[in-house]
Amino acid sequence: MIVRGWGHLPPIRMSGIRRDHAGVVCHAARSLAAASIAMNETEPTVAPDEPNIAPSRDYPVLFLKKGEDDRLRQGHLWVFSNEVDVVRSPLDQFVPGQIAAISDSTGRILGLGYVNPQALVCARLMERGARHAVDRSLIVHRLQVALALRQRLYGEPFYRLVFGEADGLPGLVLDRYDDVIVGQIGTLGMEQLKTAIVEAVVKVIKPRLMVWKNHGSVRRLENLPEYVESAVGVIEASTRVVEAGIEFWVDIANGQKTGWFYDQRDNRERLPRLVAGKRVLDVFSYVGAWGLRSAALGASAVLCIDSSAPALAAINAVAQQQGLADRVQTREADAFDALKELRQQREHFDVVIVDPPAFIKRKKDFAEGRIAYRRIFEAAMQVLSKDGILIACSCSHHLPRAVMLDLIQQGARHLDRSVQVLAQLQQSKDHPVHPAIPETDYLKGFICRVLPA
Ligand code: SAH
Repeated sequence: MIVRGWGHLPPIRMSGIRRDHAGVVCHAARSLAAASIAMNETEPTVAPDEPNIAPSRDYPVLFLKKGEDDRLRQGHLWVFSNEVDVVRSPLDQFVPGQIAAISDSTGRILGLGYVNPQALVCARLMERGARHAVDRSLIVHRLQVALALRQRLYGEPFYRLVFGEADGLPGLVLDRYDDVIVGQIGTLGMEQLKTAIVEAVVKVIKPRLMVWKNHGSVRRLENLPEYVESAVGVIEASTRVVEAGIEFWVDIANGQKTGWFYDQRDNRERLPRLVAGKRVLDVFSYVGAWGLRSAALGASAVLCIDSSAPALAAINAVAQQQGLADRVQTREADAFDALKELRQQREHFDVVIVDPPAFIKRKKDFAEGRIAYRRIFEAAMQVLSKDGILIACSCSHHLPRAVMLDLIQQGARHLDRSVQVLAQLQQSKDHPVHPAIPETDYLKGFICRVLPA
């Protein structure tokens, strides 16, 4: 390892070496003044058959202020801009997206991460302990680890392959539809690694089609443009996804998010005993993952409500193909209006599923979003039969589980009904929660029996 000066930001040199003990780097980095420090050279970082996509591994050092290393040490991956010692390492001296060694105030290197000097989260750790360079081979390794989990969990190749921070790839989401991969990048640092990501995906998955669905509010926070483009193959009008033996077709380029909501798949496994022979209402149905599955499980009638006409058209097409059309209806409407109308028509359902988009996207939306959840849960209970099942969900990280349950209870009391919680839901296992990163724990839900008071 060679340590050299580089303006304000002394770089650490890590070319072609993999350390088998992070402490070696930490120890070396403490004496940044040293001209060169002998390292245990072990295996090469880049396999011989791979070109080295990071020819220069002279990483500048981003120093944290005293005491600001706690969060990273506890397992989080983010550095906030006010935690950086900008006297020792001025943020504007980093090239946006650049990989840097992140150091505590004493010079101990905590890991390697990418830097976005303009963002509130100005760095995210890609590698703890700086054992491996941040390059294609690191991404290949992360993908293989992520893939191993999904292959252990699911019998078929339909899942979220990479869930950002929780899979050690902050800012990256990859969903798999058999030989199709849909990616979403949320940070500038990951955007810089785009070529390496595509090469890594090609190596590990060999997709027929890989599409970047790079849109969403998170990109705006990092000043990134929104676009959809193909990285491998030609974008197709519809892509097949199989869940519980049902074949769905989704429009990955124009549909919601990456096209399918794998985060609810494990929760839908709860449907079998609840819906057979029952009348089911699927509110915010999108392409009918809950509703069509209920119909396939023997629900006597299913009504899917969504404001998206293409999503409802996809439901009708699948209902036709699967021979479910006589039991599945769709209604294009605002969910709040449709529920009011159903109530006025004195319609009742045995099971009501409410799986809305995030009403609280940012913390400051909390008060408004909370009211929206309160209203929608109560409206759902108003069309629930006397002894009905409510499946209420929220994908807002900022809505705590306890608050959500309280909103359900408030709605029930307002209608003079009582609630029994039968199950608590969370995101599917292919969206693992990182215990140190609360933001990775976002989806919650309750299966409730709602009785007369
Ligand atoms: N339940 C779905 C995912 C729902 S995503 C699943 O598990 O696959 C949220 C859906 O809500 C989107 O399809 C969107 O079109 C719809 N939506 C958003 N706002 C709406 C509104 N006010 N009324 C009705 N549908 C709405």
